[in-house]
Formats: sequence, structure tokens, C-alpha cells
Amino acid sequence: MLIVSQSRVKKWRRCKKAHDYRYNQRLQKRRKQVRLFKGDLLHQMLSAQTLIQLYPKAPRDTPEDILRKASKKYRVMLKEEKELYGDIIDDCRRIFEAYNRRYEEDRLTPISSEEWCSTLLAPEIQFDGYIDNRVVDKEGRQWIKDYKTCANIPDEESRFSDIQLVLYAWAWNRMHEKYPEKQVSGVIWDYIRTKPPTIPEVLVKGGLTKRKDIDTDHFTYLKAIKDNGLSPKKYTDILGMLKEKKSTGFQRVKYPLPPKKAMDQILEDFRVSCIEIEVLGKTLTTRTMAYDCKSCEFFDLCQAELRGLDTDYIKKASYEVREDHVNEEDHEANIQG
Ligand code: SF4
Repeated sequence: MLIVSQSRVKKWRRCKKAHDYRYNQRLQKRRKQVRLFKGDLLHQMLSAQTLIQLYPKAPRDTPEDILRKASKKYRVMLKEEKELYGDIIDDCRRIFEAYNRRYEEDRLTPISSEEWCSTLLAPEIQFDGYIDNRVVDKEGRQWIKDYKTCANIPDEESRFSDIQLVLYAWAWNRMHEKYPEKQVSGVIWDYIRTKPPTIPEVLVKGGLTKRKDIDTDHFTYLKAIKDNGLSPKKYTDILGMLKEKKSTGFQRVKYPLPPKKAMDQILEDFRVSCIEIEVLGKTLTTRTMAYDCKSCEFFDLCQAELRGLDTDYIKKASYEVREDHVNEEDHEANIQG
């Protein structure tokens, strides 16, 4: 029986060599890249918040506890990485708070968190994965919601390659076909930019910048006014503009389950990739080099191999053999930068 996740198929389609490192050699970076660390931390904090909402009496870490524990880990990260990425702990706290402000009046009601989803795609192919959340919207419809942390929120075209996510909605409905009350309408991509709202700079002549394109929100600007002992009266124009403007750091995109014909096509494409993995997954290890290789977690190993360097040393120093854990790999696939 071949057990596949959406991220495995995605990796296979992107590069057979990366698939080999990940799924045959089962390698993963020893030290999580800061980029992943930030997305991972935000994801943990948001999941903890949802679990507290769902099960308020169960003892568990709060988002603040998670942040405190992470700050200990972060202290031992590479100095150069910290210089490059700044104060990640404070960034995550501010992003988390901004997220909650953004959706204060626009909440989706969670009904579950981190649910297992598994169904047969073909007699010998099983699709497995974890679902971040199931939520109910104001109209009473249920959705599967996935946190997607990213450096920039992707546009419609870039999202095209993520359409496979609807497979989770399809698989979930199939698993629960006898329970109409559990059927979902589709997926919601819950995009979270990994950059906190900008703190407005203090000008040499005094006062705060009023740049129209400032990438911040009303709360952060008002706080900066107060922190600098300034009068909000002098900033009513920009404060008014920021109050009107929704924060650009977040976006929720609903993608309803496509019509049957389109869904059948998505499933067929996915099945074909699964069959390719079954037949060729152990032997086909060709590279697909492209502009985004620099963000591949195997970049240094792959480059070293091409240059004929000592890859055993790189493997030992920078990689470890991972435990099989679908949740983690699915989750990492949701961290885009
Ligand atoms: S660096 Fe590029 S070619 Fe090499 S494994 Fe990663 S994606 Fe494939």
C-alpha cells in the first residue's frame, strides 16, 4: 500500500531529487531555517488558541507559553541568522496580536483542530493528512481552514498550484459521507504574512512619518504616537486612513469544492502522480533546477553533490534522518517564507 500526502506529491512534481532526499533518504535539516521557525511558531500559537477555545478546561500551553519556550530555543540559533531575520519572537507576538485584531469582528467559529484525514484514492493508494481546522462561517457552512504563513500573500495565479488542497475537503467529505452534518463546502486559505506591522519611524525634524504607503495598521501607528509622547490630534488624517484600510498582512481566501468534472480531473492528476511515485519513486532522482532552488532545504547538499564535494560530511553535519510524520511535513508545506 502506498501512503501519500499532498506534500509528497507536490515535492515529486517539483523535483525528483528533492523527493529522493526527503522520502527515500528521509533527510531533514538539523537546524530549522529561521524562515520555517517563524512560520512554525505562529502556527503553534494559533493552534493553541483554537484548542483553548474548543476545550477551555483542558490543561495546555497558551500562545504566551509557546512563545516563552521558543525564545529559549531561538537563543541558540545562529548569530548570522538572527542578524538577518531580527527579533523573531517579538515579530511573532506582534503578528499574532495583529491577526486577532484583524479578525476580531470577522471570526469564523472553530469546530475542530488538527484532525486526521485518510481515504483510498485507488485500491493500493491511500491519501493521508492532517487538517488544521474545521470552521463554520456566518452562513452556517463548514470549511477546512489552513494557515499559510508566507513572505508575501500569493495572487490568484500563484495559488493555482495549491488547488490540490481541495483534496482534503474531498477526502474529508468522503470519509464522512454518512454524516451530512460534517460535510464541508471547500477550503479557506488563511494567509498570514510573516512580517509584523511596521512601527512608523520618527523623523529627524520630530514627529512620525506619514508615508501613505506605510505597511502598518491603526493600532501600531496609534501606539507609536503614544510611545513617543505625541498628540493623536496631529495624526487624524493618517489614523483615519489606517482605520479604513484592512491590514495587508492577512487574507482569507475561500475556495469552494469545484464542480464534479473539475474535481475528477484534480483527482485523476493526483492519482497519476501517485502511480509515478509507486513505480519510479525509488529510482528516478533527476534534478529539476529552477529559480526557487535557493529556497530548497536540500540546496547545499544538492550543490555539493553536483560539484563532487564530500556529501557524507554535509549530510552528517547539517541533516538528520527524520521520523515519518505526515502532520509535520504537511505543516511545513504551509510555510512559504
Ligand atoms: S536544489 Fe533544486 S535541483 Fe536540487 S534538490 Fe532542491 S529543488 Fe531539486
